[in-house]
Amino acid sequence: MSKVTFYTSDTVFDLKGLPKHLVIIGGGPISCELGQSFRRLGSKVTIISTKKRLLTKNDPDASKLILQTFNQQGIETVFCDKIVKVEQKSDQIEAITKEGKKISGFHLLVAIGKKPSLSRLNLEAADVTLNEGFIEVNKYLRTRNKRIYAAGECIASYQFTHVAGFLGYIAVRNALLPFSSSAKLSLIAWTTFTSPEIAFAGVEDLFEGLNAKKYSEVNFNLEKVDRATTDSDTTGFVKIYLSKKQRIVGALVVSPRAGEIIHELILAIKNKENISKIANLMHIYPTYSMLVQQAAIKKTEESLLEGFVGKIIRFVTKLNLFF
Ligand SMILES: Cc1cc2nc3c(=O)[nH]c(=O)nc-3n(C[C@H](O)[C@H](O)[C@H](O)COP(=O)(O)OP(=O)(O)OC[C@H]3O[C@@H](n4cnc5c(N)ncnc54)[C@H](O)[C@@H]3O)c2cc1C
Repeated sequence: MSKVTFYTSDTVFDLKGLPKHLVIIGGGPISCELGQSFRRLGSKVTIISTKKRLLTKNDPDASKLILQTFNQQGIETVFCDKIVKVEQKSDQIEAITKEGKKISGFHLLVAIGKKPSLSRLNLEAADVTLNEGFIEVNKYLRTRNKRIYAAGECIASYQFTHVAGFLGYIAVRNALLPFSSSAKLSLIAWTTFTSPEIAFAGVEDLFEGLNAKKYSEVNFNLEKVDRATTDSDTTGFVKIYLSKKQRIVGALVVSPRAGEIIHELILAIKNKENISKIANLMHIYPTYSMLVQQAAIKKTEESLLEGFVGKIIRFVTKLNLFF
């Protein structure tokens, strides 16, 4: 790698022309967002991932749909165990996988994640300690030095601008005002800005809760949403995750503008709302947000027809048919 010219998400924007063939190492959000953008601009794009699927931090159904979309758009994807060598071969770069597959292209983008670069700051001199390369803080974001607080990607947290902003606010608040606030996140939300967008929000224990069958899910497909039909863009779906009491604990929206649509669900998660609240909330027709309402209506109707109340409703319906 040391003899190969490669770009990162910081330097790729310095490119003076459109790459003829861009090879991207990594299958995460930066790779998928930039890969799709370059493809749309006209580059040939190959994404090499050492994971089993793209966007592993997202739901597998979202990864599957993005892979299908990439296939349709002519973005090549290579999944392998390991990349063993990357070489410069005159004006081309060649990556060789453990399985022996050779992938060549004219430009290389490496998007395999990032870590804070703290070594040059000599933080030990200020009694600020590190843990696995990140600054150690307590729940109030205070370091071991009581006069120093830390926030953002230099501490072990989610790598998002809105999280860094929230933590920065808490750190400043705690540094300057009495009665410290906890920086513990009650929920997390993010969007991957591919097309379609993938927006996610959920309580901290969402995935453990799903594995333990503590939470269930309701799905609805974008194909049944009129706004998507009129735009001829029906690739997408919503999943809403529910507690046993039908309270919303998480959501995944794959759709155009999913990053906007998810916000009503973020509020619902924060307020532990029952899904029927979304079903009964007025939504404007025809909007993409009706994807969320239609999923909520589907679940609310299903719940109504369950149990004792459901039996009565079904009985009354039968009587109506009879008379
Ligand atoms: C290509 C790309 C796309 C992204 N897209 C999104 C997105 O769509 N949504 C989202 O939420 N997040 C996105 N992110 C992540 C987001 O950019 C980061 O999570 C966020 O910027 C973290 O904020 P921060 O303040 O911790 O760090 P940074 O924004 O990196 O800020 C750190 C600052 O510290 C300065 N600095 C570093 N060392 C020193 C030093 N020794 N002395 C003084 N100053 C120093 C740097 O110059 C910089 O200004 C993206 C990241 C990348 C790379």
